[in-house]
Amino acid sequence: MKIHIDIDCFFVSAVRTLDKTLENKAVAIGGRSDTKIFNNEAKKQTVNFENSGSFVPTFFKTYEESDDNLNTFRDAKGKIRGILTTSSYEARAFGVKTAMNISEALRLCPHLIIKAPNMTLYQKLSNELHQFLASRIPLIEQASIDEFYGDLTGWIDDAEIPQFIDNLRHEIKKVLDLPVSIGAADTRYIAKLATTFAKPFGCKVINMYNFDDFINPIPVREFAGIGKSMANRLASAQIFTLGELRARRGTIESWGPYAKELYKRINAEVDAPIKTTHKRKSIGISRTFDPLFDRTELRRRVHVLARHLNFAILKLDVIPTVFSLSISYEMNQKSHKNVSLCERFTEKKFDALCIEMFHQADTQKRLQVIRLSINCSSFTRDSKKELSLINFHEEEKMQILTKNTQILREKYGLDAIKWGSEL
Ligand SMILES: [Mg+2]
Repeated sequence: MKIHIDIDCFFVSAVRTLDKTLENKAVAIGGRSDTKIFNNEAKKQTVNFENSGSFVPTFFKTYEESDDNLNTFRDAKGKIRGILTTSSYEARAFGVKTAMNISEALRLCPHLIIKAPNMTLYQKLSNELHQFLASRIPLIEQASIDEFYGDLTGWIDDAEIPQFIDNLRHEIKKVLDLPVSIGAADTRYIAKLATTFAKPFGCKVINMYNFDDFINPIPVREFAGIGKSMANRLASAQIFTLGELRARRGTIESWGPYAKELYKRINAEVDAPIKTTHKRKSIGISRTFDPLFDRTELRRRVHVLARHLNFAILKLDVIPTVFSLSISYEMNQKSHKNVSLCERFTEKKFDALCIEMFHQADTQKRLQVIRLSINCSSFTRDSKKELSLINFHEEEKMQILTKNTQILREKYGLDAIKWGSEL
């Protein structure tokens, strides 16, 4: 059988490992896109990107740990901004939900305790849980920062699985102080669905004897892969539960390959193997900010983002060959530019490339910009053979400079060295 392990309200559970007074209380974690990196004041900034998968929106520590109060979420006018990323079950009882505005959540639950995110802590706990699971189960795949799949086939007898996962759950609580829920089933997709119904801090095993009874009454939206538009389409066909869906194979299959695959997942007719190593395929950075028209300031922000991403790329020790920059404008307009480049990676070149992409992507020059993001992918590691040898010696010098800069930044923080263009 496959199992799916998910940490209950992870960000809240994480902060509770540090602060026991938060147990059994309505607690939520607030989120606000960090625009502090654009500030010119020197500040020691740290970066994390240990094996987290590509699921953490940014690797940069979002807030100083001392920013741990509501003031963190006030804008220049003192208004509370930002949304919640996680809430405890005690808070959910008051109607507090993920992605809710902080001010709205406080209206519903005035005693709600709001904590700032702490990416460093999440990474650390996620890695510890990964290691712990790997020590208990041979095949473990990390699916997101707080989610794992395991393959118990041939390792634990099906009959012993309920006991095994129940012990595992208590052991994780004891060793790492994290509450997890675990679902088990023949396929990863059903295991994940089972976890949803095991929460909080529970286990659920789905087998051939209880499969129909479990699946059929579940609303379609609970199944991973059924989003709003698919749910609407299903509703228009009078399909509201997974049982109703299973009874309409012909209808679903006529909707194309995606719906066909979905049907098979729900019916436990397909599975995907558990992959133990998760190799990062891309890395990116993005920031959302108040609408901004000033192109000089926007270019400066591109430099800042490039410097941060450069740091992360060097940390990962990869050579990206595909680069992209996206601009989101007000009024829902978007534009982006892609570039493929098979050359050595240096900070100066990367910085120049980002500025160039910004110029080309900035097609709506009359609009204000609200978001910038830069992404790098298609990594190559041993580069020399694959990479262009034009300007090889020149680039070698730049690469030494890039490396030395990195050493200094690791020691003194990311703001220790900046390019003049940024100032
Ligand atoms: Mg979770």
